[in-house]
Amino acid sequence: MKAEIKIVQGDITTLDVDAIVNAANNTLLGGGGVDGAIHRAAGPQLLQECAGLGGCETGDARITAGYRLPARHVIHTVGPVWHGGDKGEPALLESSYRRCFELARLQGLKSIAFPAISAGVYGYPMRAAAEIALKAALAAITENPGLERVVFVQFNDAAQQVYLEAAARIGIR
Ligand code: ADP
Repeated sequence: MKAEIKIVQGDITTLDVDAIVNAANNTLLGGGGVDGAIHRAAGPQLLQECAGLGGCETGDARITAGYRLPARHVIHTVGPVWHGGDKGEPALLESSYRRCFELARLQGLKSIAFPAISAGVYGYPMRAAAEIALKAALAAITENPGLERVVFVQFNDAAQQVYLEAAARIGIR
């Protein structure tokens, strides 16, 4: 059976899934937004493990334990900062999603939840970011039969609406 794609509104730190994805920065040493929320909820051991990873390139991802989170793992990815769209941003954002799904497959994870990577402080337009996210999920589901559930978590109503509209355009029900 194919995996389900769910679009929900809420706080990603509360989800009981195999992995939640963190929209991190290149240092992996914590930041604001969803990164700050994940580190607060996971506790100080998460920062300790991240400190040993030596950072992460934009478009790449690293996996750690989830510590005090209900999620078993955190996959930290660094999405691109939006500079207008002609600095390779779409390819880098696609790469972030693809690398997260690759790590999930390598670790045998069945469920994964994503925030809107790059669409906060990094300024990526939400509508375009949502399409990249959802298309990456469709590709991952086809490539990874072990994947059962992909969740996209929005922090507010407006973002939730944008994701639902993007899903309708792409043909995800
Ligand atoms: P980036 O720097 O990659 O843009 P941000 O953390 O600034 O990352 O924002 C990414 C998205 O995550 C934004 O849409 C923001 O509203 C959302 N967000 C922030 N906190 C949470 C949370 N606890 N759960 C889910 N989404 C969140």
